[in-house]
Amino acid sequence: MFDDLRDLYQELILDHGRKPRNFRRLDDATNHARGDNPMCGDRMELQLKLSGDVVEDLGFQGRGCAISMASASLMTETVKGKTTAQAHALSDRFRALAMTGTCPDCGADLADEMERLQPLAGVHEFPSRVKCATLAWHTLNAALEGSKEASSE
Ligand code: ZN
Repeated sequence: MFDDLRDLYQELILDHGRKPRNFRRLDDATNHARGDNPMCGDRMELQLKLSGDVVEDLGFQGRGCAISMASASLMTETVKGKTTAQAHALSDRFRALAMTGTCPDCGADLADEMERLQPLAGVHEFPSRVKCATLAWHTLNAALEGSKEASSE
């Protein structure tokens, strides 16, 4: 059963890695940031369209390993339509999930969103790949804060 779940997660990551969602340039972006993970060679540019404090739309472009692309794809799907405060909360929780495999802060709010990100929790077993999974979220934070460059730290 555990192996089946693992296979399913693997399948989902490969699918998002091959066909990333929201892989496009926005014409009317209000915020953007670049993310770079030199350890693996993952690079991306993320664009946001903020309307008030709601992330109305997101698009990313770039290239990298399947994990980085799948993570960015899932991130854009999860954050779309959220407030900037919710986006920051998701980012903090996802980074905890990717580093430890568990999410102690995941309470009732945003539980569905965290469930969708669960397939990437397995990266915590591979410390060198954690940055691949968190790059999109670091880039999201940078874009929300209006800065242009995101490091992988
Ligand atoms: Zn990578």
